[in-house]
Amino acid sequence: MNLGALSIFNGGKQLLENILQTNMTGLTGPLAFHSDRSPMNPSYDVINIIENGYQQIGYWSNNSGLSVAPPETPSNRSSSDQHLGVVVWPGGTTDKPRGWVFPNNGKELRIGVPNRVSYRHIVSRKDGTDIAEGYCIDIFLAAIKLLPYAVPYKFVLFGDGHENPSYDDLVEKISLGDFDAAVGDIAIVTNRTKIVLWILEHRLNDEFRGPPRKQIGTILWFSFSTMFFSHRENTVSTLGRMVLIIWLFLVLIINSSYTASLTSMLTVQQLSSPITGIDTLISSTEPIGFQVGSFVQNYLIEELNIPKSRLVPLGSPQEYATALKKRIVAAVVDEGPYIELFLSDNCMFSIRGQEFTKSGWGFAFPRGSPLAIGMSTAILTLSENGELQQLHEKWLSRKVCASQTSDDVSDQLQLQSFWGLFLICGIASFIALVIHFGQLFDSTSAFPRR
Ligand code: GLU
Repeated sequence: MNLGALSIFNGGKQLLENILQTNMTGLTGPLAFHSDRSPMNPSYDVINIIENGYQQIGYWSNNSGLSVAPPETPSNRSSSDQHLGVVVWPGGTTDKPRGWVFPNNGKELRIGVPNRVSYRHIVSRKDGTDIAEGYCIDIFLAAIKLLPYAVPYKFVLFGDGHENPSYDDLVEKISLGDFDAAVGDIAIVTNRTKIVLWILEHRLNDEFRGPPRKQIGTILWFSFSTMFFSHRENTVSTLGRMVLIIWLFLVLIINSSYTASLTSMLTVQQLSSPITGIDTLISSTEPIGFQVGSFVQNYLIEELNIPKSRLVPLGSPQEYATALKKRIVAAVVDEGPYIELFLSDNCMFSIRGQEFTKSGWGFAFPRGSPLAIGMSTAILTLSENGELQQLHEKWLSRKVCASQTSDDVSDQLQLQSFWGLFLICGIASFIALVIHFGQLFDSTSAFPRR
């Protein structure tokens, strides 16, 4: 290379000098430099790069900060336009990412949601829209907010809207790849977990749940009510013991009368049906109702060996009531939460026997899904901070049955029924008090004060 042939520019210093002396109005506004060579009133465009292009979402200048107003507009940093335009994030979402995005090749997760026709508060299509709403949806939304990353998703309603969809089919659609997850009142049963799937458990146990304050209340109340008879204070005087024994006798009678009247109430009801629990139901030959779409149908046939011909599909709580009243079915077998909601509207029926399985509800994810672990932790947090309980109360609050019909009221024992006992107790206390004062008076006159 013949470097010597290159001509040398000697005016570099001068050129720099001239540039730093610049004081003009250029295309972007006034242009000049400080003595430390930094530009005077620098300003920049802020752009949002979207896939192959970009859009301008604001400006930055020393005076205005990040702002949608161009730097030449007079403004101060505290003014209301201290914000940028809407940012489109990778994946096309305008929701601000919380760290990294759940990897699904930039696609939204398709989340299957049962389009229920009965117990619609649990989860269903919002009337007149394509939006899913309900208790389970709110739990999902609250849980997904707690994840440290964004999960783009969309709900896809599953079911024809005429009857409850088959939940087995819903779960199967995840293993078929039609859905990436399913959210709803999906019972956690073995055959579902076998095809795959991870179902996040969230057991419905209404007792001992809720915010810490409520739980402490429950614990205190529980302790007090069980300690009712364990009085620790010593009664030293004979009179005190006499009053106490009468009082305890009164308590004993009230207590046993209460137990007796409760027992008779339950027995009278029980006499109207020979079914006392799942065993008598199995051994009878009577028809049994189950909820359309539920795993209960398979369970009754496969686990309890009940012939299919005995099973009657029922689509709604109204159908439960009619079928029971008309004796089309001897009993309905269903999960606890549905039965409780049903009974809160239909006080003339009752639960027979004990629960014979304990199944929780959960959301379903493909096996190994990292989302399942995050959601599981999030739901646990919701359960611990009481939010789950609040959602339960919001969507599934139950009416309390006025436990008796009017003609039963006359048979019940009221507080007035015990007036005689209260009178005896009162008289005994009064006599004891009089004797006590009598003795006190005697002893003070026997030893007069000096
Ligand atoms: N929870 C039931 C299940 O997971 C569905 C109830 C219904 O069919 O409405 O199978």
